[in-house]
Amino acid sequence: MQKSEADFAIIGGGIVGLSVAHGLLKQGASVICIDGTDTDFRASRGNFGLVWVQGKGIKTPFYAAWTRDAARLYPSFVSELSEETGIKINLSQIGGYEYFIDSNTLDERIAEYKKLKRALNGDYPYEILSSSEIRAAEPMVGGETIGATFYPYDGHLNPLQLLKALTEYCKKRGLSHYLGEVIESAEKKEGVFKLVTKKGLEVSAEKVVVCAGLGAKKIGPLFGFKNLVSPQRGQILITEKLPPILKRPSVTIRQTNEGAIQIGDSQEQVGFNDNETQVQMSRIAQNAIKVMPKLAQFRLIRAWGSLRVLSPDGLPIYQQSVSMPGAFIVTCHSGITLAAIHSVNLSLWLTGQKNAPDLTSFSEHRFHV
Ligand SMILES: Cc1cc2nc3c(=O)[nH]c(=O)nc-3n(C[C@H](O)[C@H](O)[C@H](O)COP(=O)(O)OP(=O)(O)OC[C@H]3O[C@@H](n4cnc5c(N)ncnc54)[C@H](O)[C@@H]3O)c2cc1C
Repeated sequence: MQKSEADFAIIGGGIVGLSVAHGLLKQGASVICIDGTDTDFRASRGNFGLVWVQGKGIKTPFYAAWTRDAARLYPSFVSELSEETGIKINLSQIGGYEYFIDSNTLDERIAEYKKLKRALNGDYPYEILSSSEIRAAEPMVGGETIGATFYPYDGHLNPLQLLKALTEYCKKRGLSHYLGEVIESAEKKEGVFKLVTKKGLEVSAEKVVVCAGLGAKKIGPLFGFKNLVSPQRGQILITEKLPPILKRPSVTIRQTNEGAIQIGDSQEQVGFNDNETQVQMSRIAQNAIKVMPKLAQFRLIRAWGSLRVLSPDGLPIYQQSVSMPGAFIVTCHSGITLAAIHSVNLSLWLTGQKNAPDLTSFSEHRFHV
């Protein structure tokens, strides 16, 4: 039977697990990452690729602040990753838009942002663009668009390249990375966690971090965590490759570094089903054409569905187990956006540093299940 031991065992090698591993390795900890099989649902391989602040935490300023700070950490996080691995992540972080086609919805959003900005002591630098201003800024915009919000730290990247760079970086720093291994049992004996995979790999670690995405439903309770995450499907459409026609991304439409326009806005409660459906694909395309009528001229070449990892209120869960201290759970809806802050700030919390952030607001105790 193969055995492995380290300071930390991370269960799950998606964007969340590898961001946490990245931070822990930089703190000098030894880390094992055990990542399941290709048949698992993996949000890190099917997402939209936005580093996105606006619209998040409108009613929960602590989450808006967490997201804002995460975006600010991004440029240095990505440049270090690229320098050390030679992998291009194609981060463009020069701001992004949310387009509006209904004046009541835009007015509501403006009122919400004013309130949020006050709650964040003025540190929420959004802007509002009129219909003519957004058309001048993005010539593809037209149709029913009546205005847009703009947030200067929003951006986008190639999420698969980010995952690849994180993997390479962590391996260079000594990560023991086990692929195709599914943790099935866990116990804590004499202060040490003993984990065993389906194939019989034995892992010993002083601390465990559950970053298993939707897999946390099954293995979270092994460490005393509540069964809180659930799936939400999103579908994404891809056009043929085009010359640069969009300067900045919006929350539902962006041009990738390779030239394709990527479109997606569905939020579907359909359980563990990541199929594409013709009804949703048509709806997504129609909504996009309302704000950018010229999109109708381009050919769609690909589409996919993927499952988001959602907590009951949509906010992250960061929690140390009460019944098994030393076991932690880290799960969130925006793992790309939060990658840098997960590396920098969560590693302080996981290693028990004095300057660790106070994460009480993100505890799972907020849910009375
Ligand atoms: C359509 C869509 C669009 C999105 N767009 C954005 C976006 O634009 N910006 C953004 O910030 N976020 C976005 N997200 C969310 C983002 O993709 C997720 O927050 C993030 O990928 C979650 O990463 P994860 O590592 O927690 O989960 P996953 O990527 O699901 O990884 C979990 C890993 O755990 C492994 N695992 C599970 N159980 C076990 C076990 N028992 N033993 C060992 N390993 C196990 C799995 O194999 C898997 O590799 C989007 C998501 C979707 C679906």
